[in-house]
Amino acid sequence: MKKHNYSAGPCILPQEVFEKSAQAVLNFNNSGLSILEISHRSKDFVAVMDEARALALELLGLDGKGYQALFLQGGASMEFLRVPYNLLKENGKASYLDTGTWAAGAIKEAKAFGETLVAASSKEENYNHIPKDFQIPADANYFHCTSNNTIFGTQMKSFPNTNVPVVCDMSSDIFSRQLDFSKFDLIYAGAQKNMGPAGVTLVVVKEALLGKTGRNIPSILDYEKHIKAESMYNTPAVFAVYTSLLTMQWLKNLGGIPAIEKINEAKAKLLYAEIDRNPLFRGTAVAEDRSNMNATFLLNDEAHAEVFDKMWKEAGISGLPGHRSVGGYRASMYNALPLESVEVLVDVMQKLEKSI
Ligand SMILES: *Cc1c(COP(=O)(O)O)cnc(C)c1O
Repeated sequence: MKKHNYSAGPCILPQEVFEKSAQAVLNFNNSGLSILEISHRSKDFVAVMDEARALALELLGLDGKGYQALFLQGGASMEFLRVPYNLLKENGKASYLDTGTWAAGAIKEAKAFGETLVAASSKEENYNHIPKDFQIPADANYFHCTSNNTIFGTQMKSFPNTNVPVVCDMSSDIFSRQLDFSKFDLIYAGAQKNMGPAGVTLVVVKEALLGKTGRNIPSILDYEKHIKAESMYNTPAVFAVYTSLLTMQWLKNLGGIPAIEKINEAKAKLLYAEIDRNPLFRGTAVAEDRSNMNATFLLNDEAHAEVFDKMWKEAGISGLPGHRSVGGYRASMYNALPLESVEVLVDVMQKLEKSI
């Protein structure tokens, strides 16, 4: 039986995407060849890459607006490094918002390159909220933020209005909600949270931003080289790109981001209502900053953990334990998780309450 998969990443993808990608492993496009054994330069795969790049921009409403989409390797963690390499000038400075473990990881890499200022941090409160009042230096080369904090269950609901270029790590909420994406100059997202299997990262960058640092950038780290090579500077992660394309096609057929946003809001509303109502549980993130993707919550009395864990496992739920830095539980409700899975979890929480 298919599980209700709350894994934070790699995570659930639409069932039809699993089926179509499995079919492509056996016989891709009726070619008599597996997607795993064809050249990335073959006509069939070049078409996949072209469509994936175009569809990413289309879904974000960024086609024809001076942006390029790339599918690169090294995970979102590689972009922690590639961003300063490409955007931080030799004697420039960058401004970062520290909202969690991943944001802190990005700051650490930027510090190796130059002056890296932390505009604000919620670390002292174990990242339970998004800092609101902060200044971005007008002469910063860029401002970096993390739209959704996968581990701590917080999500930025608004973004600063600034003339400084905005870079955003959207790994765990890409394609999940409507935003004016043209306010961002560079967006990146590791596929394995909401788009595809591990092994590929979507980078969407405004072309005019590049080539201004005066740095000598190693080729593999140079966004301009990847753009020039149409995201085939070296062998791309063929299977991960193909599966990401299938997920984007699924999303487009569903009605795109506006349609999935409604479903994501319904799922989050249902679960947070139960966390707030049920006297056995409490949420860990400040309510106004709660993530619609990752809901983090605790049992008020740890003594109930054994019974609760047994109950949700018996209900076919998987991947619910929280990250070790928060403890308790984390329900990751990415795009492909159906509302029905949240109903099953809420039902288990109510049964636990009745059993006590
Ligand atoms: C998971 C995650 C990362 C790290 O992604 P990798 O692909 O493992 O490098 C970075 N940022 C955010 C917000 C994440 O959720």
